[in-house]
Amino acid sequence: MNDNEIYDLIVVGGGPAAHSASLYARRKELDTLMIAKEEGGQLLYSSEIDNYLGVPDVEAFDLVKKFRDHVDKYDVEKLDDEVLGVTKSEGVFELETVKNGTKTAKTVVVATGAKWRKLNVPGEEEFTGKGLSYCTTCDGPLFANADVAVIGGGNSAFEGIIDMLPLANRIVNVDIAPEPIADPVLQKHVENSEHMEDVEFKGYYGHEILEIVGDDMVTGLKIRDMDTDTEKNIEVEGIFVEIGLIPNSQPVDDLVETNDAGEIVVDCRSQTNVDGIFAAGDVTTVPEKQIIIAAGEGAKAALGAYSYLIHQ
Ligand SMILES: Cc1cc2nc3c(=O)[nH]c(=O)nc-3n(C[C@H](O)[C@H](O)[C@H](O)COP(=O)(O)OP(=O)(O)OC[C@H]3O[C@@H](n4cnc5c(N)ncnc54)[C@H](O)[C@@H]3O)c2cc1C
Repeated sequence: MNDNEIYDLIVVGGGPAAHSASLYARRKELDTLMIAKEEGGQLLYSSEIDNYLGVPDVEAFDLVKKFRDHVDKYDVEKLDDEVLGVTKSEGVFELETVKNGTKTAKTVVVATGAKWRKLNVPGEEEFTGKGLSYCTTCDGPLFANADVAVIGGGNSAFEGIIDMLPLANRIVNVDIAPEPIADPVLQKHVENSEHMEDVEFKGYYGHEILEIVGDDMVTGLKIRDMDTDTEKNIEVEGIFVEIGLIPNSQPVDDLVETNDAGEIVVDCRSQTNVDGIFAAGDVTTVPEKQIIIAAGEGAKAALGAYSYLIHQ
């Protein structure tokens, strides 16, 4: 397709949601362009995946390859680039890229994913994947019978604690706020859990994390009591940083509705509040950020775009 032509659909992103959207779009014979900053998405930072249906015990990198090969079978046009902004003019979307000027399309699927919110403390980068994880749903089972810390006092952290209660030997919950802010229902769930009898649980609230420590693997963390200004070392084998996700919605946050967390608001058809622009995966308000969910939402978004186009 030449530079001035208008695509039926531009998919922005290169993770599971974008691959699935591109595959579904091409199977509907839409002229599709996929623009991705880094093909693979969060899977590039993951290790073994064992919860993607039909593909047990797969290395994340190999799953990315399977996604890529499947999409390439349908000759999806791809651009290795970053989308900076999206505007709508006379019913057509204009996408400004860093390296390839402006690309235009009749519909857009935004599948730009999210970044895990980080602690930004010494040791965090070094021990990511070596005992430090950002996802109990993904990596919790690797820490069966272990002593673990769950960092954070919000809903993500308490859902993480609930994931770990049947698994861990000891759970330490650390948060900088003086008390947890998770929904009371989640806090009660933890307090009243039948597993509390078998698990040693301790909360350190009003404590900041100073450092993640270890040798080859995590061995603990250093925290500071904000009231007394005293430091403490806690020994654990696993650390889950559960302080939320930052959605990559910046390219469209002037165009479509987002919630307080910056997630793109979508309906059950993956449609945003702007006709012709759809969104899928971790960048959206759809709860539970998982590969299989992102892939399913990507498929829905592409079918939504197809349906929108044939009704024009
Ligand atoms: C360490 C780790 C382990 C995990 N383990 C599991 C697991 O075991 N099981 C599971 O189901 N889930 C797991 N997850 C979560 C899972 O990876 C995500 O839910 C999933 O990748 C979300 O897919 P997505 O396509 O919405 O977004 P992402 O995977 O975040 O992909 C977003 C894509 O958009 C691109 N992009 C972003 N902004 C722009 C832009 N402006 N222009 C162009 N491209 C852009 C990015 O480069 C990337 O390619 C894990 C996540 C992490 C970080």
